[in-house]
Amino acid sequence: MSHVFPRHTKAALPTVSGGTGVYLYDTDGKEYFDGSGGAAVSCLGHGDPDITAAITRQIESAAYAHTSFLTSQPAEMLAEKLAAHAPGKIDRVYFVSGGSEAVEAALKLARQYYWEKGETGRKQFIARRQSYHGNTLAALATGGNEWRRAPFAPLMIETSHIAPCYEYRGRRDDESAIEYGLRVANELEAEILRLGPENVIGFVAEPVVGATAGAVPPVEGYFKRVRQICDQYGILLILDEVMCGMGRTGTLFACEQEGIEPDIITIAKGLGAGYQPIGAMLCSAEIYDTIAGGSGFFQHGHTYIGHPTACAAGLAVVEKLTGSGLVARSARMGERLQDALADAFGQHPHVGDIRGRGLFRALEIVEDRETKAPFDPKRAIHSRIKKAAVEAGLFCYPMGGTIDGVNGDHVLLAPPFIIEDAHIDEITSKLKTALDRAL
Ligand code: PLP
Repeated sequence: MSHVFPRHTKAALPTVSGGTGVYLYDTDGKEYFDGSGGAAVSCLGHGDPDITAAITRQIESAAYAHTSFLTSQPAEMLAEKLAAHAPGKIDRVYFVSGGSEAVEAALKLARQYYWEKGETGRKQFIARRQSYHGNTLAALATGGNEWRRAPFAPLMIETSHIAPCYEYRGRRDDESAIEYGLRVANELEAEILRLGPENVIGFVAEPVVGATAGAVPPVEGYFKRVRQICDQYGILLILDEVMCGMGRTGTLFACEQEGIEPDIITIAKGLGAGYQPIGAMLCSAEIYDTIAGGSGFFQHGHTYIGHPTACAAGLAVVEKLTGSGLVARSARMGERLQDALADAFGQHPHVGDIRGRGLFRALEIVEDRETKAPFDPKRAIHSRIKKAAVEAGLFCYPMGGTIDGVNGDHVLLAPPFIIEDAHIDEITSKLKTALDRAL
């Protein structure tokens, strides 16, 4: 009998026995195509010898050193690399162990930034519905994922949620994509004015929405308008790239494609590629200098921040992503995956939308393509698809509540960047089997 406290107490899971490239294996010998990299984590696939070697070297020299006593070369080098590639004035990198910690650090840093400036009345974050920013309390409060938030609602910090930029569901027939983007971006301005700009700390958003709504990219101009509004009212723009960052959407930072410069960015998942648990919060020189010139101390920290072995893994991953063309490969193979999905499911009676960027793609499942009506949530279509996909030997990432936290289903795909053309055929054919069985 197991003593592990699992995610779901009623699921009987197979045990992993190994992983090579795009495949994972269980102890019964079954092979699974890792079509979602777990939860958009394994961007390099499994068993990459370069990452293993970098981790081994670091463990053999100094596995761990507490950051109140020592810095480490991997942390210094990884920070330098990330800052060099990050957009705009992003200059400092705070290493943590995962996505929720990165978001939590971002929220606290943003609050402390204004506190250092004497603007202590600022306490409000604005975020979006149908987003996810992590499971720690402040990150969960910022996220707009209703079913995840519900049990903990009394513990939440106060956060406002405006509409997402979700063209398939939100754009009216009488407006262009650009008009739609401006309309939903302007909800930010309305909310800032309602709260009083002097009370607002910042706006938090995923550049491409991940698991909650399924690889939803913004429309052109949306984030430019958001940046304009943040500047006009003097609030911070915090972009959560925990899922969509590190090359997943075809550029190292997802926001590069929006032509904007955020004040704070969070990353995780693909940064360690699953080889080590690592995340990071990156901030502008101005924010860092405000802390440095004020109290001199970010009132935060965990035992494992800047973990040398995790940073060594992250450094090897980012070197591989940027130095061997893997980010460009994500963009290129992502287009091929989109075409293959369109060929396979473009006319499917229950696939309403096929979307995403790079190797971050999703199918939105509907009962009726014409009306976009979702399936009755009681049918838990996403769970059925997941089960059928696993049976067919495919790990993908289906989720329910796509539209509003209750209604809607989607299937997220986030395969490793090393996929070949034949793998794309394998994904689409196994997914087809799964959809046929589940629907
Ligand atoms: N932010 C986003 C956009 C995410 O997708 C996730 C996880 O899925 C998180 C934050 C939380 O990251 P973690 O699960 O590593 O704590």
